[in-house]
Amino acid sequence: MSRPRNKNVPALKPEDREEVKAVYGELEKRVLPRNCQMTTGCCQFRLTRRTPMLTLGEALYLQQGVRASGRREVKARPDGACPLLGQDGRCTAYQHRPFGCRTHFCDAAGGMYPRRHVIDLIQRLEALDEKLGGDGARTLEKCLIGS
Ligand code: SF4
Repeated sequence: MSRPRNKNVPALKPEDREEVKAVYGELEKRVLPRNCQMTTGCCQFRLTRRTPMLTLGEALYLQQGVRASGRREVKARPDGACPLLGQDGRCTAYQHRPFGCRTHFCDAAGGMYPRRHVIDLIQRLEALDEKLGGDGARTLEKCLIGS
């Protein structure tokens, strides 16, 4: 199955949505000391040269969150920042933000979560990706905009 784009996005089945939420919920229980100052520097992809990579379950869950917020279209930003970063400097899809956004912290905040701390959760997301017919993680922009 090819990766769905912004339009005609299939719904995530309830049990698959629950699996994504369960992974995020488990991650919240494993929180490590971090001190995010909400500078949103990690959302400035052009500056960081890093973009969150989403498995298919994460992508569909995020797309549901975007739709639920009433947004009908997601467009690339001219400044290269995440297209979900709001004008107020806050994430417009915070509750549905992908795994990478939940585990990547800038150096000033304490750094990225060590892979060994979350590897089993990554594997669960990868297993769901495979179950859904995905073909591995893709960039957030590709999942939301298709480019
Ligand atoms: S989804 Fe939200 S938290 Fe993640 S990079 Fe985009 S604006 Fe930042």
